[in-house]
Amino acid sequence: MAHEVIHKTAAPAVAPNLADYDRARASFDWQQARDGLAGLPDGKGVNIAHEAVDRHVAEGRGDRTALRCVGRDDRVRPVTYAGLARRSARFANVLRGLGVGRGDRVFTLLGRCPELYETALGTLKNTSVLCPLFSAFGPEPVRQRMRLGGARVLVTTGELYRRKVAGIRQELPGLEHVLLVGPEDEPPPGTSSYEELTDAAPQDFTIPPTDGEDTALLHFTSGTTGTPKGAVHVHGAVAAHRATAAFALDLHPDDVFWCTADPGWVTGTSYGIVAPLALGATVVVDEGDFDARRWYRILADEHVTVWYTAPTAVRMLMRATPRQGPHDLPRGYDLSRLRFVASVGEPLNPEAVLWGRDVLGLPVHDNWWQTETGCIMIANFAACDIRPGSMGRPLPGVEAAVLECGEDGRALVAGGRVTVLERPDADGELALRPGWPSMFRGYLDDEARTAACFADGWYLTGDLARRDADGYFWFVGRADDVIKSAGHLIGPFEVESALMEHPAVAEAGVIGRPDEVAGTVVKAFVSLRPGVEPGPGLQRELLAFARRRLGPAVAPREIAFDQNLPRTRSGKVVRRLLRARELGLPEGDVSTLEGTP
Ligand code: AMP
Repeated sequence: MAHEVIHKTAAPAVAPNLADYDRARASFDWQQARDGLAGLPDGKGVNIAHEAVDRHVAEGRGDRTALRCVGRDDRVRPVTYAGLARRSARFANVLRGLGVGRGDRVFTLLGRCPELYETALGTLKNTSVLCPLFSAFGPEPVRQRMRLGGARVLVTTGELYRRKVAGIRQELPGLEHVLLVGPEDEPPPGTSSYEELTDAAPQDFTIPPTDGEDTALLHFTSGTTGTPKGAVHVHGAVAAHRATAAFALDLHPDDVFWCTADPGWVTGTSYGIVAPLALGATVVVDEGDFDARRWYRILADEHVTVWYTAPTAVRMLMRATPRQGPHDLPRGYDLSRLRFVASVGEPLNPEAVLWGRDVLGLPVHDNWWQTETGCIMIANFAACDIRPGSMGRPLPGVEAAVLECGEDGRALVAGGRVTVLERPDADGELALRPGWPSMFRGYLDDEARTAACFADGWYLTGDLARRDADGYFWFVGRADDVIKSAGHLIGPFEVESALMEHPAVAEAGVIGRPDEVAGTVVKAFVSLRPGVEPGPGLQRELLAFARRRLGPAVAPREIAFDQNLPRTRSGKVVRRLLRARELGLPEGDVSTLEGTP
């Protein structure tokens, strides 16, 4: 197969961390990454917050800027490593004072404000478990995740609490402490002030001994069926966060790094908090939402050198800044400091890579990973040629393979064995050989779903891919019904369940429909209860109902009425068929459907 190649010819201004791919793959092992960690003083183990903050203070870099927080009002609040060490220590002391300890779950439902970063690091210092939620979730995803995750503490704002939590609080009996960030004239009952507690707490905190296998983070991810799954990550994962940010994002300690992902998603934690701080870089945090001018301004004004974003964001910028034709962006902005751009989360179309090269002056480097892997697994590297449309090649220390699939579209496991497809350009399920430090340790309280991810010594990713003759991996699609919209993973079951709570809805089937900018948007097909008439009014009502319950990040964008949803004989809606019909694709084998002879 012939593909366009972007050759890296000019010598880069900064020597890449990974200069020779083959040599790095031959010589690297994860012990080298572990050896790069400071470790807690006196050999008391490894704690992410120590690596991310206290280490730098202890090594004399406390005055360096850790965060540059850009507010919605454009005001910039810089936070030094020493300041972040103190603020996170205060929060750790608050938790200790509340009797919250090792393994207890601390949830956040916050925008990207400095307090989110203090809370995250303070929770890790206290050896409690951090579970960051996306603030655009509606009450239903919040309730589900807090129940499943056994939340003891929630840090949020008064506004978010009133809108999303107050109404479900009685369903969360384990939630003992709710701390509200920001002033409150009339604090809601059962809440405390974050500022009052942290301001009163001591600013010194000695991190207790922490084993690298102690749980640090809980990230919920979506499956095809059932409730969201809580992927458990440990403190020792920081070795992989640090090493992969150096390899795949070419991050150096003096970089100014902007990861646009929200910490409510794994990218915003692994690479928005842990990795760049562990490397001692300066992290730009933007509280605001996407806006092309705002983003170009932040890149320019904050002197961003390394930028990690999502394909949907790149496509939105492409719209605002076409390659040809009259445009004034980003010409009005000085992006000369930017030296590396990467993206993750969904397929990056070749056009977007080339747009980066032509408009930003830098190609966009796609990389691949997922909540379960905890860190980047496959990437296009600073020193390597790019094949636009390819996710790149496995990182040093990562073994990836394409496995032969069975009729269900997943890796075929026969007698406990899988078949690795050695020939180039063959489609199959992408699999990884377990063993890297940030591999999830299982789904919380769900051994069956954890076990289903492994076969014959491989971790099965649920993605379909192919590998070309030169070892570059190409994304083919999801092997399941999970939807990726604007970089966010959405479980169709969660959306269907919410819709079916509306009294007019009998049944729902939810799919992803291709979209030029968001990659995919959520579309729901619903059948109505007897006597209910379809119509635009009901359509609007259902869209609003879903948005209220699920929040804008998860709710369907489109709803269609269909009284004959395709179902299996056991009564399950067949999303594959809904998708085929929507896209005008062949329907495939329909012999197991209801109504077929
Ligand atoms: P999440 O666990 O939310 O990070 O989502 C992980 C999923 O996002 C993967 O399993 C893929 O389906 C998708 N994904 C991540 N990176 C890429 C990429 N570079 N190209 C295509 N799909 C991607």
